[in-house]
Amino acid sequence: MRVAVFSTKPYDNRFLTEANSGHDLVFLEPRLTRDTASLAAGCDAVCAFVNDDLSAPVLERLAEDGVRLVALRSAGFNHVDLTAARKLGMTVTRVPGYSPYAVAEHCAGLVLALNRRIHRAYNRVREHNFALHGLLGFDLHGRTVGVVGTGKIGVCFIRIMAGFGCRVLATDPFPSDDAIAAGATYVPLETLLAESDIVTLHCPLTPETHHLINDDRIGQMREGVMLINTSRGALIDTAAVINGLKSGRIGNLGLDVYEEEADLFFEDLSDQMLGDDLFSRLVTFPNVLITGHQAFFTEDALRNIATSTIDSLSSYARTGSADIAPDALVC
Ligand code: NAD
Repeated sequence: MRVAVFSTKPYDNRFLTEANSGHDLVFLEPRLTRDTASLAAGCDAVCAFVNDDLSAPVLERLAEDGVRLVALRSAGFNHVDLTAARKLGMTVTRVPGYSPYAVAEHCAGLVLALNRRIHRAYNRVREHNFALHGLLGFDLHGRTVGVVGTGKIGVCFIRIMAGFGCRVLATDPFPSDDAIAAGATYVPLETLLAESDIVTLHCPLTPETHHLINDDRIGQMREGVMLINTSRGALIDTAAVINGLKSGRIGNLGLDVYEEEADLFFEDLSDQMLGDDLFSRLVTFPNVLITGHQAFFTEDALRNIATSTIDSLSSYARTGSADIAPDALVC
């Protein structure tokens, strides 16, 4: 199959090329948007990442040019208009569970760095400032961690936190035996928010979970709570979180994702003024640690993403959607 690979970075090129089994991969650096969709003309499939635009107008343009398959290099598919894809007869695949460890371990990294202010200590020591004021943390052992969403990543994170000796509360419309076996206790979201010292989000972005963390929910959290989001930016109302940081209700904030990240993340903008005032405000807080959607970024995860993507392309080339692994087939 001829495949237009949008939002290509050197590492995508490397891992997809290594995994490829005879497909004609056309590596394109631009993000997929209305303006760039025409680059896929003559291709049977597009391969897209988290900030590519897969709204109805873009899908319509792709379909007009003969594209029949959208192969996502991500687990989440909130950025695809599935109704439009179905109407156009397009198949959409994703890479489920390519490495829940990568994301859960990064999440643990954010918790540890924020708690012990490692991001601040790093800068201080480089300037020969060995003072400890402002670096005071707390023992994780015995603290309560609230996990919102106990799928593949949530369960990995529960295991890690249980290893630290934390009490783990969880909430999910579909409770999992694995989460219970890992030591979590299921409670309603309200109880989780009221009792957790650390709240971490591992549910998908859907219309129901959009701005799950808003003024009201922040008001239900413990004073000084640590809030972590490695899932999708729009689970959090950024303006509400900034108010929570200003009031002290949120004591620490760790983000790997951001509502408006599409115009920022994955690019070097270091010589530009940022036009995003909310993001600019967030980075001024000493108790906020932001990474640019890198939780997935391990060699193991990239290899699994590439293998799983090539498998979906090959299955589709053989039999259409019939042969695609059920958990990879979105529609
Ligand atoms: P998963 O599908 O295995 O698990 C998601 C869980 O969330 C499910 O158990 C589901 O029942 C639950 N859920 C749905 N709605 C909920 C709600 N309202 N409240 C509580 N739980 C709810 O997904 P996963 O592989 O664990 O990934 C979770 C999310 O992580 C993905 O949707 C994606 O957005 C994000 N992600 C981020 C990165 C990154 O690099 N930052 C990488 C991969 C995935």
